[in-house]
Formats: sequence, C-alpha cells, structure tokens
Amino acid sequence: MRKINIFDTTLRDGEQSAGVNLNLHEKLEIARQLERLGVDIIEAGFPAASKGDFQAIQAIAQTVRNCSVTGLSRSVQSDIDAAWEALKDGAEPRLHVFIATSPIHMQYKLRMTPEQVIETAVESVRYAKKYFPIVQWSAEDACRSDLPFLATIVERVIEAGANVINIPDTVGYITPKQYGDIFSFLKENVRNIEKISLSAHCHDDLGMAVANSLAAIEAGATQIEGTVNGIGERAGNAAIEEVAVALYIRRDYYQAETRLNLQEIKRTSNLVSKLTGMIVPPNKAIVGKNAFAHESGIHQDGVLKEKTTYEIISPQLVGVQSNAMVLGKHSGRHAFRTRIQELGYSLTDEEVNRLFGRFKDLADKKKDITDDDLIALILDEKLDTYKNFYQLCSIQVQYGTNQIPTAVVVLKNGEGNDIQEAATGAGSVEALYNALEKALQLPVTLLDYRIESVGSGRDALAQVYVKVSLDGKEASGRGTAQDVLEASAKAYIHAVNRMFVIEKMREEQALAAQ
Ligand SMILES: [Zn+2]
Repeated sequence: MRKINIFDTTLRDGEQSAGVNLNLHEKLEIARQLERLGVDIIEAGFPAASKGDFQAIQAIAQTVRNCSVTGLSRSVQSDIDAAWEALKDGAEPRLHVFIATSPIHMQYKLRMTPEQVIETAVESVRYAKKYFPIVQWSAEDACRSDLPFLATIVERVIEAGANVINIPDTVGYITPKQYGDIFSFLKENVRNIEKISLSAHCHDDLGMAVANSLAAIEAGATQIEGTVNGIGERAGNAAIEEVAVALYIRRDYYQAETRLNLQEIKRTSNLVSKLTGMIVPPNKAIVGKNAFAHESGIHQDGVLKEKTTYEIISPQLVGVQSNAMVLGKHSGRHAFRTRIQELGYSLTDEEVNRLFGRFKDLADKKKDITDDDLIALILDEKLDTYKNFYQLCSIQVQYGTNQIPTAVVVLKNGEGNDIQEAATGAGSVEALYNALEKALQLPVTLLDYRIESVGSGRDALAQVYVKVSLDGKEASGRGTAQDVLEASAKAYIHAVNRMFVIEKMREEQALAAQ
C-alpha cells in the first residue's frame, strides 16, 4: 500500500469561503479535531495576511503535536519571515510558498517574464530553506501553465531545496485524465523528481475536485490537499473525507492508504459545519444526513436482508452514530465532565461550572440531553469570546395571527449600561431584529438567516445562523437556545460582536503599520 499524506487546508482555503470568518479559539478547536482525525499537515492560514491570522497560526503551531503545521506565503522575504515567526515552535515547521506560473497570471497579475518568475521562485525557496526543514512550493494556476515551462521551474525549485511540489488546479478547470497527465509529464521530464513528494490541490468548480485528486494519486501524487466538507474558495476544494473514504473502500483498486482515523470524520464534519455556518447538504457523500438513508422499498428490503446489497460504506466506519441518550436531569457534574472529555473537548474548571449550570437548566426543560446538545452548549459557551461587547439580557415577543408582532429587547453594552428598545415587524423575527437594530443604533443588514434543530424531537434545541453586513463588511454569527426567537437574537448579537472584533483588529493593524 502506498502512503498518501493528507494536507488539510480547512483553516486557510476553507476559511476563504465567502462569509466564513473564524476566531482564534474556533480555529484552535478545529485544529485539535484535525489532529485527532489524523491529517498529516494542517495549513493554519496565511501568516502575513493579518495579525489575527498570525496569532491563530502561532497558537496552532504551539498546540498541535502530531501533525506538521504550515502557513501560506507569497514569494517575498517579509512573508517568509512572518511565517517562520508564526510556525517555528511547531512540531515540524513547514512553509508553503507559491508563485503563479500560467501565462495569464504571469502577464497580468505578476507582470513578470517567465525568467523572472523562475528566479523569484528559486530565491524564495533558497531563502525559506535557511529556516524551514520542509518547504513546499506551489505553482499557482499550474493547470493552465505551459507544461515544458512548468517542468523547468519545478526542476529549478527542487535544485533550490523544495521538498514538496504542489500542482494546484487553482481555478477548477482541469479534467481527471489531463490532471493525471501533468503528473506523469513531470515524473518523466524533471530531474530528481523522485526525491520529492508530489501534491495535488483541486477546486470543485466543475464538480471534479475529488475525481481529479484521485487521478493525481494514480499518476504518482503522494499528497492530497483539501478541506473538511469540501468548503473553500468559490465552489470549494476537494473534500478530504471523500478522498480518504474512496481510498479505503476502493483500496483494491488504488492500493493506497491515508493515516486518517475514519471514525473521526463525522465529528470533524459537524464541528467545521457548526463553526463556519456552512451547512452540509443532506445528499453530500460520506457526511450528508441522507448519505446512509435507504428510501426506496426495494432498497430497504435488500438492506434488511443483507446490508451490503445496497450499502458500500457502513455509517459506523465514518463515526455516524444514532443519537443515543447520554445524560439527563439526574446526571451529576462528574458524568457531565467525563462526557465532555469523551467528546474531545478540554474545558477549564470555570468553564465546566458555567456549562454545568446551563446543562441543568436545559435538563429541566428537555428530557434527554444528547451529545449534539452538549456540543451545541460547548460551542455556544466556550467559543463565544465576545462577551465584552454587547450582551443580550432579555427579549419579549408578542405574536398572534390577528395582531402586529411586537418585540422588546434589553441589551447591555460594553460599558455595562442597559439599553431597552421596542419595535414591530411583519413577523416575530423581523420585530425582534428591528428592536435589536434600534438598540444597537447601527445600520445592520441581514444577508442570510438559517435555522436548524439540534437532533430530533419537539423539545430539540434551535440553532440559528445569520450573516450580517455593516458598512460593507460582513460577519456571521450563531446562537443556540431552546426557543427559536432567543436563538435568533443570540445569533444576531454574536455576528455584530464579531464585527467589532474584526474592526478592532483592523485598527490595531493600521496602528502597527504606521
Ligand atoms: Zn486553493
């Protein structure tokens, strides 16, 4: 069996998805889960992009021990310096440096001749090798590059010391056969290519990201880049869970394996979906809600008689479990804490105490507290670090089919003062949001509003995701509560608070740049 490395870029390419912005705590939580999942490399961000990015990458490099942590860098010394500062404490510091190699990018974006591009690439790899034990070099827009030119530049950066060569399909244009051919061409035409590892990075604009990645493996790639749930720029990246499970289920054909602990897939998918607000479509392969649901009578009959008649992947393989009751009203603090640890979360005593209070409140209203409920509580409590901005104190909403919906809200601002406002609307949520907008005195535009139930049952928790914009800037927020209106108000305040954090970071950056 050939070993295929999984390079996860959920926190870099995935975070570039429209409307996704993760804070340091959220990124760290995802990184810890990626470590449990067993990815080989975590691309934690773009260190030179912002102070927030830098701090998150540094925290991840200092925390994660069982994966190599990397960061993206342009071919300029200041980017490489910033990356080294952020990554040097990692278990295996690795740089991911790139430059575009397609005629269209070289001419219009870089305004450089092909010779200048080669020279810059070689220089940046040489410079990076002074610090980093492992340097990965990427040819941006490789798939629309001139092949002999691509071979030349790859040979030169290998000479300069690159350890991994990545051939990204940056714009999602290539087909599986053509992509495999590029890898074969490089293998035949580049000196010392056997000394480095070849990597694939695919985008899903034509729905071929996973197929292209698998074609690359067949043609000799030993590393696949992708994201959890396939999130990422535009149509997204190759979904790592699809690549890993395809290699496992069809190991007879591919004769290749990853180090991934497949049973952690579902949990990783849930965490990423919850923190990014990117809901997984029910029909999504491997992790969709319906991926293991047999609907047709003939199929159901077959599965009841013998599972493998229609089921090629067992749900247990990827960690899908039925929502078994775990805790209830009479569960004590110890059971509560143990279950949280089993779910993979580490909380401080203070956090456990605070959460236990909320758990007890919830257990009074809801009979069975499932793992999903606990995770929703944890994410709500632990990762909401914006409590020093606006806080929701209370809401009151009046609704009837024969009356105008009216909402009253009480907020606490950063200085600890109460603000109370009332408003009407065409519906309850609108009335609530109108009242919040009045209280905040900010022209907030609601761009997206989604509601989901956590698990099943009439008493299930409600989880609301919103995306808002203010002065042309966007932020997303989420809120969990037993009532849909309370969850809606929390999500709105969460998004607005995040906006202030982003704004504060920008101000700090501007100050630092002066
Ligand atoms: Zn990409």
